[in-house]
Amino acid sequence: MSGSGKADRREWILRAAVQQGLLDPEAAVLAGFIDLDGVNETVRSLRNAFPDSPRVLHAFAAKANCLVPVLEELRVSGMGCEVASAGELAQALDAGFEPAQIVFDSPAKTRAELVQALTLGIAVNADSFQELSRLDEILATHRSDSRIGVRINPQVGAGSITAMSTATSTSKFGIPLEDEGNRQRLLQAYRDRPWLTWVHTHVGSQGCPLDLIARGIAKAVEFAEEVNDRLGRRQVTGIDIGGGLPVNFDSDETTPGFGTYVDRLREQTPVLFSGAYEIITEFGRSVLAKNGFTAAYVEYTKTVGGRPIAITHAGAQVATRTVFAPDTWPLRIEAHDPRGRAKQSRPVPQDIAGPCCFAGDLLARNRTLPLLDAGDIVVVPDTGAYYFSTPFHYNSLPEPAVHGARVNAGGRVTFQLLRPAQAVHPASALAGT
Ligand SMILES: *Cc1c(COP(=O)(O)O)cnc(C)c1O
Repeated sequence: MSGSGKADRREWILRAAVQQGLLDPEAAVLAGFIDLDGVNETVRSLRNAFPDSPRVLHAFAAKANCLVPVLEELRVSGMGCEVASAGELAQALDAGFEPAQIVFDSPAKTRAELVQALTLGIAVNADSFQELSRLDEILATHRSDSRIGVRINPQVGAGSITAMSTATSTSKFGIPLEDEGNRQRLLQAYRDRPWLTWVHTHVGSQGCPLDLIARGIAKAVEFAEEVNDRLGRRQVTGIDIGGGLPVNFDSDETTPGFGTYVDRLREQTPVLFSGAYEIITEFGRSVLAKNGFTAAYVEYTKTVGGRPIAITHAGAQVATRTVFAPDTWPLRIEAHDPRGRAKQSRPVPQDIAGPCCFAGDLLARNRTLPLLDAGDIVVVPDTGAYYFSTPFHYNSLPEPAVHGARVNAGGRVTFQLLRPAQAVHPASALAGT
């Protein structure tokens, strides 16, 4: 969909939400929305970007949006699911994923979690030599159909956001390939364990240029080739290439697209597409970010030190990273009137604040927008990934409802509740029970 098409669609969904009472200045001052048609379109573009063979499983990274109905939608659209905790694993199973469609990654898997994954047949990527020893112990007494791999750290360096870069020389994730002696130890680990048939890598999440990601994956593929050459058998049969395709938060354009990413991979590592390896991908943000938005009423406005400030109901409780690291995680803001129509008045610089009781609770500083009035609605695009699934319970602010939206051929918007708003339970209500 073109950039302006996405903005039109957002306004269409917003106006319908006001009309249908899903946004209400008294009863529902804040809500999240996911454009489910948009999600399906994005999944189609992902599937079309990769060849049909070798076999590819696109496992959605659950941490980007772990709402069970969202995971169900992705399952029905043909995706698998990547999980990194017992909680996400339970959500994936609730969403109906078959164990063979689930991949379990985490640097801190407990023995019980590993036993569960291995007995169910969920794919497991070991993160360390210690975890490999633990797998040995478990597999000595449990039968498993799981695909088992090792997460290697290709140590290709960081992208623009250090906290999101997992392939640095000292990252906590995976087994570092270039550390003294590790390549030999890894080769021996594969030699000793014929059930070790996958190689996994994930270079980072947001802020990693495509070339850096492609270089990391190329090193994982080269390592798989090295294992198979040295062992004289095709033991490694699959490469899990992780996620991390960066998202453009500046406009409605989806750049880079999955097609560009696959072109870059073909240049850097043609062997990946030779047919010798099955592929798993683990995209999260790039599947959902641009298909979701947050909407909040402006409760009051004021002018302080000459600058207009809009006090809204969306702050650190729903946009935690943006509030605490505004330069790294900037978000666009759009001004709408109380009925949801885009405001057209002359843009002026203003602060857009949240409801939390600390001064830094600002979604945007000095942002140029049509002047917001009390009763208006601010829309925060591109919040479909991570924002809805990662609440911050500051000030006991409740998690808002999240609604899925579909627009039918006649232009009517129908909504599906993806998460109810969290109830507020005053102590007096409990005392009465
Ligand atoms: C977070 C994560 C992903 C998803 O990253 P995105 O940037 O959301 O695509 C994939 N794989 C692993 C191992 C992760 O930790």
